[in-house]
Amino acid sequence: MDVELSAEDSEFLAGLRAWLRERLPRAWTRGPHGQEAAAESDVAALRAFQRDLHEAGYLGIGWPTEYGGHPGTALRQFLVDEELVRQRAPSLVGMLGVAMAGPTLIQCGSDAQKRRFLPRILAAEELWCQGYSEPGSGSDLASLRTRAERDGDALVVTGHKVWTTNAHFSDWMFALVRTDPDAPKHRGISYLLIDMKSPGIEVRPLLQMTKDAGFNEVFFDRVRVPLENVVGGLQRGWAVANATLGHERDMLGASAHTRNLFEGLLRVARRATRGGRPASEDPLVRQRLAELRIQVEAMRLHSLRLLSDSLRGRPAGLPGLVTKLDATWLNHRIAELAVELLGAQGPLYRGSRQLVDGGFWPREWMFSLGMIIGGGTTQIQRDIIAQRGLGLPRD
Ligand SMILES: Cc1cc2nc3c(=O)[nH]c(=O)nc-3n(C[C@H](O)[C@H](O)[C@H](O)COP(=O)(O)OP(=O)(O)OC[C@H]3O[C@@H](n4cnc5c(N)ncnc54)[C@H](O)[C@@H]3O)c2cc1C
Repeated sequence: MDVELSAEDSEFLAGLRAWLRERLPRAWTRGPHGQEAAAESDVAALRAFQRDLHEAGYLGIGWPTEYGGHPGTALRQFLVDEELVRQRAPSLVGMLGVAMAGPTLIQCGSDAQKRRFLPRILAAEELWCQGYSEPGSGSDLASLRTRAERDGDALVVTGHKVWTTNAHFSDWMFALVRTDPDAPKHRGISYLLIDMKSPGIEVRPLLQMTKDAGFNEVFFDRVRVPLENVVGGLQRGWAVANATLGHERDMLGASAHTRNLFEGLLRVARRATRGGRPASEDPLVRQRLAELRIQVEAMRLHSLRLLSDSLRGRPAGLPGLVTKLDATWLNHRIAELAVELLGAQGPLYRGSRQLVDGGFWPREWMFSLGMIIGGGTTQIQRDIIAQRGLGLPRD
């Protein structure tokens, strides 16, 4: 692909940079790598930032304009997404809506659903969470047991979801529920849009090993959901669920964050010492840095290849799976080396007066481990690539 920007795209990027200089709050970008995820106390400000970004024409590029999208190619949205990470902006507070629920509705939703939800997703008026996993149903997602029974023009949902990121401040959940217990497991599932303010929903926080409570358990006790909130038709939820999972992997595989992390690692290597000299001068450290640098660059080129395919209307397919697999592992290995180079100070986390980079590295090391699991574990991704991509036998 031609990686040079056209004059129009360069002008667009310059406009975006000028906008961010003025509108991106400096307080959010002071940390070594920007804020990683929304803290609950920041939600209102983060909503306002996303709304302004959308109003300025930098969000929803390529989405249908009748539902709030802005005209433009996937390249333009890619430029915006990369620039936000490069400038250490926090992740969008409505990321699960923008990157997962929205693209799924564009692909599989009814006209009424698109009209009702898409503009509010972009403007961060409504934030979303994902209700897939249940106790006992993670990798084997199709075994899920949360059930929804028909009652007039509604479905009545009873069950228990777990690991639900952002449920504590979300307005809506896209969820998988069992609507036909007698059908083979993949064929008895429906995809529902659930208003989180509905009576009968209880959200209980779960503490991660980072000591943040970013995800939750969600309990449903006879929660009524109008039938019009089924996406793709009753019992057709599995195909819709997979469309969302594809979008989730794209979101988790963004390469700009990995490049930021690597730049941060280089700074650590220059500052930390080995045998009285900067660690970056130690031949063994240099070798490990070089190995990571090669992988970071390969990942960048891979993401450009996927972008090029998408501009030509070619679906990402299995190469898209490689991105999530690589990015999450690479992020973890970069953080691991940073913690190691920092020596005794490396593992210090919240509460210590000798924190390096505000405890960023041990947090990233722990957080990135979760990303290897979330959105489909490494083992499952490798199985899919092996079987569907390389045609290897199942056993
Ligand atoms: C940070 C984070 C955020 C998350 N956010 C959400 C969310 O918002 N919404 C949501 O619904 N879920 C969320 N999840 C849950 C996530 O999707 C599941 O954790 C994931 O699908 C794995 O399921 P599990 O935890 O039940 O592990 P299990 O499926 O029990 O797997 C345990 C281990 O066994 C391995 N394994 C399982 N089956 C096989 C197999 N057939 N072959 C080979 N190995 C196998 C797995 O790879 C893993 O190593 C999140 C998870 C994390 C870590």
